[in-house]
Amino acid sequence: MITADLVIVGGGIVGLATGQEMQRRQPGAKVLIVEKEQTVALHQTGRNSGVIHAGVYYPPNSLKARFCREGAAATRAFCVAHGLAHDTCGKLIVATDEDEVPRMEALFQRAQANGIAIERLSGAEARAREPAIAAIAALWSPATGIVDYAQVARTMAQLFADQGGQVMLGARVLSGHESASGVQLHTTSGAISAAKVVVCAGLQADRMARAMGLPVDFRIIPFRGEYFRLLNQPEDLVKSLIYPVPDSERPFLGVHLTRKMGGGFTVGPNAVLAGKREGYAKTDVSARDLADSLSWPGFWKMLARNARPAAGELAASALRGLYLKKVQRYCPQIRADDLAPYRAGVRAQAVARNGRLIDDFLFLESDHMLHVCNAPSPAATAAMPIAAHIADRLLGQG
Ligand SMILES: Cc1cc2nc3c(=O)[nH]c(=O)nc-3n(C[C@H](O)[C@H](O)[C@H](O)COP(=O)(O)OP(=O)(O)OC[C@H]3O[C@@H](n4cnc5c(N)ncnc54)[C@H](O)[C@@H]3O)c2cc1C
Repeated sequence: MITADLVIVGGGIVGLATGQEMQRRQPGAKVLIVEKEQTVALHQTGRNSGVIHAGVYYPPNSLKARFCREGAAATRAFCVAHGLAHDTCGKLIVATDEDEVPRMEALFQRAQANGIAIERLSGAEARAREPAIAAIAALWSPATGIVDYAQVARTMAQLFADQGGQVMLGARVLSGHESASGVQLHTTSGAISAAKVVVCAGLQADRMARAMGLPVDFRIIPFRGEYFRLLNQPEDLVKSLIYPVPDSERPFLGVHLTRKMGGGFTVGPNAVLAGKREGYAKTDVSARDLADSLSWPGFWKMLARNARPAAGELAASALRGLYLKKVQRYCPQIRADDLAPYRAGVRAQAVARNGRLIDDFLFLESDHMLHVCNAPSPAATAAMPIAAHIADRLLGQG
């Protein structure tokens, strides 16, 4: 039987940041990260837009607003400290018709309330900054940037190991039993006994909480985000990131034009209900995952409330022309044959019984466990403050 002071389930960026933080605060402790895949950062962490969000969008006083603002600075500092490439290239949020202007204004107010640097631009000012972009007005967020989160996560794993932590790969946690003294984990690599357990299982968060005996009144619903890589366009097509004004009713930010750290651009992601939690092709379906979505009353309530956007996303996923239109609204020179397939990601979004998409980060705690139950975007940006929050809770400092 393996024993540890702390076991962290999940080798995505949240688990790895937590491992590092706990190892830093308790240098003598035995900390073990258990990951079911053969390498870290294989799911959300390695399949996202790579944006260091500044924190424009999130309700003031939410955990997202606070952790994102702190996390953007922490991510940049981490990159500087460890020689990782990143680029604070800024972001334009562009309105392309009059209807979007009030929503853009609301975002401006929100960014200000969150203490985020933000500037209003006229259409002419936006076009002077980015000549390839059509806009009648825009917001400029200078603190937004890009990074390769898989590289950040791998660096965290290495630092964690260098500090004496252990990453156990290829070991799936199946269940856990909490007793008065700690938690017994049952894994595909044997039993592990831990004084404390933190679960950062991303797309499996609800199942892990249930399998460890916690009351769970939400379900993870997977939303696939499909991207294209941009071909045939100049390397200086845009200097910054280009985002549409998001739909204020939905947590997704809309199809954006994103610079990549290695050069070039991606377009995406959309947000399509997925048939498999950790499946990345359109055709990937898991009977268990699908049954879990369809048997959740909140799924149907969510669908009823969002029937039009859900159908629109599905149509744009099937028909490239519809997807293209979303980008052409703000970048008219992009053509259908500029879009080449690119790897998709799947978002873990917790949905409540009443059909509400749980917006903020969500944690569930018991005497010896802390489960990260909802850590969608911007949790890659916010991973380090999330880790500090978890460490505070575990050490009784929060
Ligand atoms: C399409 C897309 C675009 C995004 N864009 C951005 C962005 O630009 N900026 C940003 O800040 N955020 C973005 N996000 C969100 C961000 O990627 C996630 O919030 C973040 O990566 C969550 O990290 P995590 O460690 O919680 O989850 P994950 O990275 O999914 O890691 C969870 C890990 O747990 C492991 N695991 C699960 N179950 C078990 C088990 N039973 N036993 C052992 N291991 C297990 C998994 O294998 C996985 O490695 C995006 C997400 C997606 C999908």
